[in-house]
Amino acid sequence: MYHQPVLKNRRTLLERAEKFISDIYFTDCNLRGRLYGDSCPLESLASFLSSKRITFTEASKQTFAPYEVADTFGPTWWTCWFKVNLKIPDSWRGKEVHLLWESDGESMVWRDEQPVQGLTKEGEKTSYILSDCLKDEEPHSVTLYVEVACNGLFGAGQGSMIAAPDSNRKFSVQKAELVVFNSDVRELLTDFEMLIDIVKELGEGEQRGYQALFTVNEMVNLCDPSDPSSFSKAHSLAHTFFSQRNGDSQHTAHAMGHCHIDSAWLWPYEETIRKCGRSWVTVIRLMEKNPEFVFTCSQAQQFQWVKSWYPGLFSQIQHYVKKGQFIPVGGTWVEMDGNLPSGESMVRQFLEGQRFFNREFGIHCKEFWLPDTFGYSAQLPQIMQGSGISNFLTQKLSWNLVNTFPHNTFFWEGLDGSKVLTHFPPGNSYEMKGKVEDLMNSVKNNKDKGRSNHSAVLFGFGDGGGGPTQLMLDRLNRVQDTDGLPKVQMSSPDELFSQLQAGSDLLCTWTGELFLELHNGTYTTQAQIKRGNRQCETLLHDVEIASSLALCQDRTFQYPVEKLQELWRLLLLNQFHDVIPGSCIEMVVEDALRYYEDIRSDGAALLHGACGALGSKGSSTGVFNSLPWERHEVVQIQDGAGKPDLGMLDIYNTYVVAFRTTTAHLMLCGICCSAALVRVPSIGFSPVRDTQPVAPVSVTLQADGTVLMDNGMLQTVINKDGTLASLCLINANREAIPDSGHGNQFLMFDDVPLYWDAWDVMDYHLQTRKPVLEVVQPLRVLSSGGLRGSVSFTLRISDKSTITQEIVMDAMSPYIKFNTEVKWAESHKFLKVEFPVRVHSPNATYEIQFGHLQRPTHRNTSWDWARFEVWGHKWADLSEHNFGVALLNDCKYGYSVHKNTMTLSLLRAPKAPDVNADMGTHHFTYAIMPHTGSFQDASVIQCAYNLNFPLRSFQCTPDTEPWSAFSISTAAVILETIKQAEERKGALVVRLYEAHGSSVTATLCTTLPVREAWHCDLLERHDAARPAHITSEGITLNFSPFQITSLLLILS
Ligand SMILES: [Zn+2]
Repeated sequence: MYHQPVLKNRRTLLERAEKFISDIYFTDCNLRGRLYGDSCPLESLASFLSSKRITFTEASKQTFAPYEVADTFGPTWWTCWFKVNLKIPDSWRGKEVHLLWESDGESMVWRDEQPVQGLTKEGEKTSYILSDCLKDEEPHSVTLYVEVACNGLFGAGQGSMIAAPDSNRKFSVQKAELVVFNSDVRELLTDFEMLIDIVKELGEGEQRGYQALFTVNEMVNLCDPSDPSSFSKAHSLAHTFFSQRNGDSQHTAHAMGHCHIDSAWLWPYEETIRKCGRSWVTVIRLMEKNPEFVFTCSQAQQFQWVKSWYPGLFSQIQHYVKKGQFIPVGGTWVEMDGNLPSGESMVRQFLEGQRFFNREFGIHCKEFWLPDTFGYSAQLPQIMQGSGISNFLTQKLSWNLVNTFPHNTFFWEGLDGSKVLTHFPPGNSYEMKGKVEDLMNSVKNNKDKGRSNHSAVLFGFGDGGGGPTQLMLDRLNRVQDTDGLPKVQMSSPDELFSQLQAGSDLLCTWTGELFLELHNGTYTTQAQIKRGNRQCETLLHDVEIASSLALCQDRTFQYPVEKLQELWRLLLLNQFHDVIPGSCIEMVVEDALRYYEDIRSDGAALLHGACGALGSKGSSTGVFNSLPWERHEVVQIQDGAGKPDLGMLDIYNTYVVAFRTTTAHLMLCGICCSAALVRVPSIGFSPVRDTQPVAPVSVTLQADGTVLMDNGMLQTVINKDGTLASLCLINANREAIPDSGHGNQFLMFDDVPLYWDAWDVMDYHLQTRKPVLEVVQPLRVLSSGGLRGSVSFTLRISDKSTITQEIVMDAMSPYIKFNTEVKWAESHKFLKVEFPVRVHSPNATYEIQFGHLQRPTHRNTSWDWARFEVWGHKWADLSEHNFGVALLNDCKYGYSVHKNTMTLSLLRAPKAPDVNADMGTHHFTYAIMPHTGSFQDASVIQCAYNLNFPLRSFQCTPDTEPWSAFSISTAAVILETIKQAEERKGALVVRLYEAHGSSVTATLCTTLPVREAWHCDLLERHDAARPAHITSEGITLNFSPFQITSLLLILS
């Protein structure tokens, strides 16, 4: 066959073939130039411009003005609707006819009032198929609408992808015409492309590559672009090559169509709805033509959007879900951040997601799907297992800056020992294109060679949507079993994971968190979003508990099922992996903060209603405690006129969150307040009866201008600049601050990453440490003691930014609070606060979801070094035997503990993708807590909860008796959640977890009328084989370290 053996030059043969399909060179005579046949102009084209995203019905009623190709429209974020009248020439009988539409922006074609095709140049989709093979009886005159969104697949960044959007961009249509599409040319082009890529990918070391080279060269010899009858010989030559099969041992690539759509990122939530519509309708069109095509699709929220915006498309999706082609995956409401959401939030991601998929499609996801998230909590394996999921897929750790993660297929063991089978597609991408390179990478990069011989290939344009194309399917289809390449089969995640499980004997196990060594600035960026998340998690926790108790106290009380679901879904949506990390554009930030406001105002109203149902209304003030231990704290009580309102009872009303009440009256503004020391039972309430502290707080202004504060437990000396010279644990006679250092030292760092501005803080920023030293207002006494002592001071960061802080010591409190206001107008700076402490320990402890973990305080290895900035939730602790210091916070997530210095990250100032990120005034509170014993024995966990969950006031009668609904026999177990069961009115679900890292037996006591108790999973499916044992003492429960237990309580 290869009749010209004189040809030995690899380069000329290869380039000859490349030029034969080039879309740049020789298109006058090469094969590419023949892809399209005749063309024909449209009958008419008219447009209508809208500043808003409107429905088709509304758009089609508008007046359309004539549009000429190349006319510009815009600006960014607007929508241009086109009305297209076309007439297909009769002479095109038997031809494949396309509408060729090349425009900027992202387009949706509408026909007969239905969305039919998404088109984007960036996503390599520019034609809508009008007919596969034109017949006389088909309509030749057609009216279509094309909805063009004025943004690209990746938004509209000015100058670079992640720069803030250019709000004045202009858009145009470059081509709009009818064409004859030569599918035989397209088939042959794909043959050529695949063979050329095999030559390149296999290189000169593989003889198979030379076979591809000689095949493709002979195909050029045989193929005359001007004579379609010559194509079949060339095609069959390619077919012969592709059909030469592999041996049994070859790797199998499991191809799955995919389309990663960020629920918001460089575009707002609203545009994501249309991205889903455009991407998924295109998937449906591909499924109609390719019955083997499998598409995996995550995020219940996006399905919910499509259901309400495109009901017709949604029923088509339901049809293909039934057929097993369109596969909902992940089981969560959105692809959330893997670090910052609370444990309960993560449970709710699965609860809302799995319930949605079950209700709409009758399916239950068996795999968690989080390809693009910035690290994965060590508690996720247990939460997955509790949600009926034992497989996990991601690839993001391939982005690690320092260390290469050693596995692609392995068991991931979580904090409690739960294991999930985990796969990182070795192609290191969730948007492959079905090219030879993707397949070869899947084999070459597989770090578990010999242990595992299967991998996933997720193909389709992603991040901004787009999804798979026919070309990708054609590529994969050619090389299903081609010697030299991995075998390729279209698979579902189920099929992939079954294969991985079947051959899992040799797989290794990775224990603990999957820490991403990149994007560590996302623990801090967009502080208002972080604060909104923490406060709203807290509020919904309280609303659910108060409503559950109200349900038991007052049988007429209606548990707010629908409203709570709505608020939870807003909170869960904002936990999306580019929103809560703060890596989104300003428009998204505005939406997210508005959603938090909605949760705050509606949540406050719900809390007000529930507390109202708890006690008979009267003229006295009571306080509600949502935490499962008795609290003895100083709170602020309103005096005189003005009804007591629900809100955060904290004396520092400057720093209090102003929850809006039902009357839209801002809490605590201008209301006269006084402090009281109250004792409130666990999960219950008490009228405010002032008790006396064992020791009052004393505040002494000393001759040198420093202030000494003492509450009998702690004694501190505060310098004029607000730093702590001393912090002493009185009973133990232990000083927490080393001689050489100052506690509460504010620091500024230069913060210029390599590229990902909002995302990354780099290791070298640590070399730019500068203490904030300029005092504007030196230390002065605000509260002179008794129940509360406090001092305040102001520092200047720069000519644009200041810090004002109130340092607070309460009677009976084991920690000192720092209520902080920062006016922040910096650029590429990082503000932190540092506490050097007299503790020597190789590890620090950080709270995570339903537990805690340790990370090193040294930098021995590259793995230790890479964790120079880490995340934690409400507290971090550094302890040696019998003494330690905890650093608590009410809305921060970024920490670092190096040697004996504990640092809390406060504010960043990145400029992309939001040029105004974090500019403005910020309020936050942190606290320092020295302790003897371990942090467990010192109740650090409980103190951090107390700091985050304020006692809430409500009206009651003066004779109201203190009441507790639940208590727990051991401090090791925390009762985290009490809510009405999803499926059963009059039943409660309670969720507890072991927080100390110990095996323990606990008794849950309740005064509620519980008739039966059952163990249930996180989806609230009760286990008929596992009734919970109720005795006169309560319900006895055994816990292993960090175990999460949920119970279904049936009330009588
Ligand atoms: Zn993403």
